[in-house]
Amino acid sequence: MPALSPSLNVVTDAIVKCDRCPRLRAYCEDIGQVRRRAYLDQTYWAKPVPGFGDPRARVLILGLAPGAHGANRTGRPFTGDGSGDFMYPILHDLGFASKPRATHRDDGLKLRGAWIASVVRCAPPGDKPAPDEIRACASHLAAELAALRRIRVVVCLGRIAWDGYLAQLVSAGVIARRSAYSFAHGAEYILPNRLHLLGCYHPSLRNTNTGRLDKVMFARVFVRASELAGFEG
Ligand code: SF4
Repeated sequence: MPALSPSLNVVTDAIVKCDRCPRLRAYCEDIGQVRRRAYLDQTYWAKPVPGFGDPRARVLILGLAPGAHGANRTGRPFTGDGSGDFMYPILHDLGFASKPRATHRDDGLKLRGAWIASVVRCAPPGDKPAPDEIRACASHLAAELAALRRIRVVVCLGRIAWDGYLAQLVSAGVIARRSAYSFAHGAEYILPNRLHLLGCYHPSLRNTNTGRLDKVMFARVFVRASELAGFEG
């Protein structure tokens, strides 16, 4: 995997140092102090979590926010939690990930052709960021998108990621309003900037344990993303 470009390094540094949202920063640091019983021997990352992946990515995978005991603990998106345990084996099967498991930042996992980020970079209480916190974090996504110049497909995991990305497009003047784009699992649009937008249910335990989202449904979206990105099947 190529090294991060200077512009991606700048974005990553800015995210890690960000303290715009006092509520979220306090929550993440508190979680890092208290910790879950299973992780008492670990030092939590407890900082904003930057994006991760291939700087030449054609597919952007956009989630909601770090998990309190997942990415907020490990410092890498979808690493060390149930959502990642569901997602990475499928990304591995489809060639996007070098390994099927993501356990910690230094586990050697690499992404090919994909970049993973979220609309909010700090774990929110109850997985529910406030609207002003989503707005505060939007500039990080804008900067990341500007640095990821090869993106062709954006896969939004869940409605909040979908709405957050559309808000970004409105701010950038790419679309006039969000209402023309309805979120659904498998929803697919071509945006005026020629990017493909795909909707996918979030691989949270709430969805995967209840059968709302299964592996076949999830894989289907990423097979389509792979096709649209021009990767060979
Ligand atoms: S959620 Fe985003 S804007 Fe808010 S403190 Fe974290 S990184 Fe900064």
